[in-house]
Amino acid sequence: MKMRGLYVHIPFCRSKCGYCDFPSEAGREADIGAYLDALTAEAARYDGLAGSFSTLYVGGGTPSLLSPDQFGRLLGVLESLTGPLAGLRESTFEANPESLDEEKAVLLKKAGVGRVSLGLQATQDRLLKQLGRLAMREDFLRAYRTLRAAGFDNLSADLMCGLPGQSEAEFAESLDWLLGLAPEHVSLYALEVHEGTPFHSASVAEAPDAAAAMYEAAAARLKAAGLERYEISNFARAGRESLHNLNYWEQGEYLGLGPGAASYLDGERRANAPALNGYLEAAGAGLPPPEQYREKLQGRAKNAELVMLGLRKTAGIELPEDIFIEFRPELDRLLEAGLIETRGRQVRIREDRLYVANAVFREFV
Ligand code: SF4
Repeated sequence: MKMRGLYVHIPFCRSKCGYCDFPSEAGREADIGAYLDALTAEAARYDGLAGSFSTLYVGGGTPSLLSPDQFGRLLGVLESLTGPLAGLRESTFEANPESLDEEKAVLLKKAGVGRVSLGLQATQDRLLKQLGRLAMREDFLRAYRTLRAAGFDNLSADLMCGLPGQSEAEFAESLDWLLGLAPEHVSLYALEVHEGTPFHSASVAEAPDAAAAMYEAAAARLKAAGLERYEISNFARAGRESLHNLNYWEQGEYLGLGPGAASYLDGERRANAPALNGYLEAAGAGLPPPEQYREKLQGRAKNAELVMLGLRKTAGIELPEDIFIEFRPELDRLLEAGLIETRGRQVRIREDRLYVANAVFREFV
């Protein structure tokens, strides 16, 4: 069934993590009211799509930074496009432990939000401080229990590996501690150091070999705990995969609102520029948000994207015959290199080669 997702970006954080290259700003809480006005104006530009969404994802930034009153306003904006959230196939809010309390958890539950994704990253306070995280392990535990007590039966947690100074034993300890809480979904990311981040300025080094070893061990441990890997970085209990993200990987349509948010509608990819000030100024002047890019995908580029997105899923993708033929030379090279496996027109990256997925994708660029 064709799905369409709605992504709404909340570009505020209490402070900036050392590795973060997401469009989010620290110390701008005073602008949240103006931001909700701007978001309302952007959402109104898409009232023709109202009622057409199957999934909602509110990410950031730190959506849980909003006060209960601001949550109420945000929910009004969301529902103007989605209708009652409980009627969606899936609705997710991202949260950070230090800004999530019982009042907000209950408010989200009552509003019909079905799923919360909570940042953990590691369980050693030393590593969390080094990452610039505000919440320590005990804060995560409190927030997690608060969400369970509010009735959330679909929780996801983010974990990181390959951190500077992180031993394999420390990573295993973090993972085991998290699995002890029995989350329905886990996202696992190896540390990447991007230009423009505090880690990049401080010349923090990536540790790809250590991260790959931790990742492989984690995949086995997660599987044993009942969480199957269904995408390069994502693991879930059966039926708890993120439908919103699966729609991205199936080249489905989505609308993104807020600075830096990307959309794919009518075969066209575009994204808002990431700067919060530019977004607020445009809204103040009654203009649409400044754009970062806009491109109509067609022909080989569109087909290559379909293959790359589909290969992110561990199940891979069943290619239509014309696309299978079009990319036969690339697929043959990858088969010879032992990176993918095929069954008829079903193609997937070999499970033990998922950590070099980028090498596979390069064949299609
Ligand atoms: S909480 Fe998330 S979005 Fe905010 S700075 Fe940290 S990593 Fe970035």
